[in-house]
Amino acid sequence: MSSPQPRPNVSAIPAYVAGKPPTPVPGMRSYKLSSNENPHVPLPGVLEAAVGAAARMNRYPDMGSSELYAALSDRFDVPVEDLAVATGSVALIYQLAQAFCEPGDEVVFAWRSFEAYPIAVAAAAATAVQVPVTADGRHDLAAMAAAITERTRVVLVCTPNNPTGPAVSQAELDAFLAQVPPHVLVVVDEAYVEFVRIDDPIDAMAAYRSHQNVVVTRTFSKAYGLAGLRVGFAVAPTPIATALRAVSLPFGVSSVAQAAAVASLEREAELLARVEALVEERDRVVTGLAEVGWNVPDAQGNFVWLELGDRTLDFAAAAEAKGIMVRPFAGDGARVSIGEYEANDRFIELAGEWAR
Ligand code: PMP
Repeated sequence: MSSPQPRPNVSAIPAYVAGKPPTPVPGMRSYKLSSNENPHVPLPGVLEAAVGAAARMNRYPDMGSSELYAALSDRFDVPVEDLAVATGSVALIYQLAQAFCEPGDEVVFAWRSFEAYPIAVAAAAATAVQVPVTADGRHDLAAMAAAITERTRVVLVCTPNNPTGPAVSQAELDAFLAQVPPHVLVVVDEAYVEFVRIDDPIDAMAAYRSHQNVVVTRTFSKAYGLAGLRVGFAVAPTPIATALRAVSLPFGVSSVAQAAAVASLEREAELLARVEALVEERDRVVTGLAEVGWNVPDAQGNFVWLELGDRTLDFAAAAEAKGIMVRPFAGDGARVSIGEYEANDRFIELAGEWAR
């Protein structure tokens, strides 16, 4: 009997494993450190804007997200034509693969990196080319450049790299871009850019201005704390941004998300002050980990990486019993988000018990 069959690539799509919600532990508060979320609740003005928009939920959102485009255009000094908003920056990765890859075309990215990459690539029936990160969790950009073939259409550069933490420097990016053929798209995924504190940080917006093949993706989910609303954006040369918008889901970005994103841009100073506090907290965690025997890769996002190898799942279970959910990658390591002070303390203490 014949039955409807999805395209063969669909069965090859790996599952996305979401960070677990906190399991209640009797007698203690549990914390979710498994999804790189912002632990701060929304700012009052942002919440009000979202609630105001929710009162009109019987209407479709503004399909053109015109206020959001205008606000982003102002904020980043880029023409509206060079922007594409979407339901989180993850959607933009899917759209890039869909718009730029024929089946079998290659997409190069570091590994381990953001787990949605292989999914988005497989969904587009493209081929993932994974280039191992270095021992200290950095992109091996020389190896990534060498992995480019005549089938390569897209290279994804995740900086800071989720889940290992290090950020690519401007010098490294410049050297890399000089080696990439102009018809290959370079996506600079800056989901955590606001948390970066290195000496030579990337100016990805400048890279987009000076290269016809550079796309920058950003999100409101992390620094801006709107993960639950699903809104992100890309900045790209007009033809690329046009292609991204062409394959976007109509009415994808909800009116609540649009309103909250616009209100967030209006309150950027307050939000970035919270980011600064999270960066300080991250540095406290990194120092605390060093004191108990863990030298983690340079943590430039709102998370740290513990290379636990085959102890990873046991560590995650031990953390869960202590009321903290982490994101384990079996056989490899655990990513632990920077959360509430008490959660971070509990994590440092536990990590100490697992140091070698
Ligand atoms: N890029 C990276 C590197 C990420 O870690 C994430 C979220 N985990 C995203 C993109 C997507 O974020 P969102 O879809 O919430 O914008």
